[in-house]
Amino acid sequence: MEIDIEYIKESKIDTVDFENVLFGQVTTDYMFECDYKNGAWGTPKIKPFADIPMSPASRVFHYGQAVFEGMKAYKDDNDDLFLFRPKDNFNRINKSATRLAMPEILEEHFMEGLKQLVNLEKDWVKKGFGNALYLRPIIFATEAALSAAPASEYKFMIICSPVKSYFEGEVRVVIASQYSRSADGGVGFAKAAGNYGAQFYPQKLGKELGYQQVIFTDSATHEYLEEGGAMNVFFRIGDTLVTAPTSERILDGITRKSLIQLAEDNGYKVEVRPITVTELKEAAKKGELKEIFGSGTAAVISPIIGFAHKEETFELEKLEDSFAMKLKNMLMNIQYNKIDDKYNWRYKIS
Ligand SMILES: *Cc1c(COP(=O)(O)O)cnc(C)c1O
Repeated sequence: MEIDIEYIKESKIDTVDFENVLFGQVTTDYMFECDYKNGAWGTPKIKPFADIPMSPASRVFHYGQAVFEGMKAYKDDNDDLFLFRPKDNFNRINKSATRLAMPEILEEHFMEGLKQLVNLEKDWVKKGFGNALYLRPIIFATEAALSAAPASEYKFMIICSPVKSYFEGEVRVVIASQYSRSADGGVGFAKAAGNYGAQFYPQKLGKELGYQQVIFTDSATHEYLEEGGAMNVFFRIGDTLVTAPTSERILDGITRKSLIQLAEDNGYKVEVRPITVTELKEAAKKGELKEIFGSGTAAVISPIIGFAHKEETFELEKLEDSFAMKLKNMLMNIQYNKIDDKYNWRYKIS
């Protein structure tokens, strides 16, 4: 499939300090854009990154029809470029879109759009462990109309932002006992923009108390541990890794399912089952809770060193060789083409 490319006059790459970029602060030279109108997706284009004109009546601003994905392009030592399990992102964005009554996008637009865009931006993908080009596909309602109904016009875009591996500092979390990010029958499984909007406030309250993240619990009882606002979560009790099963309330993370596979391959015992706050606190009191970590594309794994629940606080002991670090290395070695990829997760794009 040919995508029309409108070329830039001059790259802005020389103005970027790649050593010090903050996550998502810098965008690249190009963007992918495809419009949906009269019941069909039009011809996709790649053009210079720029603001887009939008009517204030665009439905996305009023009714929140917006879904997205988060992925990365990686460069190996031979300058080859790879994505990681991109078909899973494609399937997930369409699942999200369907739940928000938005049209599904076409596989060739998604895959070819990513491929051609990343190839154009290949100088923005830096080599070295942890360096990557973050890719953000997004679909949103553009139709200017205020009645509360699904839009008839949408944009599918992909933008890119160079990222490096960050040391996020020490992460402690609050376990939610009041707020929820999702509920049965809701949109928790979808990568819907509104899920983020809904969890910023509880996250802000946590930050004010010195906790960087919130781990959300089930909305009915606040007793079952579910996931963070932007990451799935794993608990190591003794030598067993436990993570909640995905459901209509929990996002089916690609990092999560890859880590489960790698943990099993590495001989770790993994239990995908409901886990309660009570069990977690008891394990912590008995010294059996060894690790907690979040998983997601942006940071791969974020170790969590303490948590609070209502009035109680807990600190975990520092570990020399954690499951978290071992699994993070295994996964990144695959992403950066340093080891064999027996599940065909890498997807070469040049
Ligand atoms: C994106 C996201 C994740 C992580 O998914 P990955 O596919 O691993 O990047 C986890 N939870 C939520 C709520 C998310 O939005």
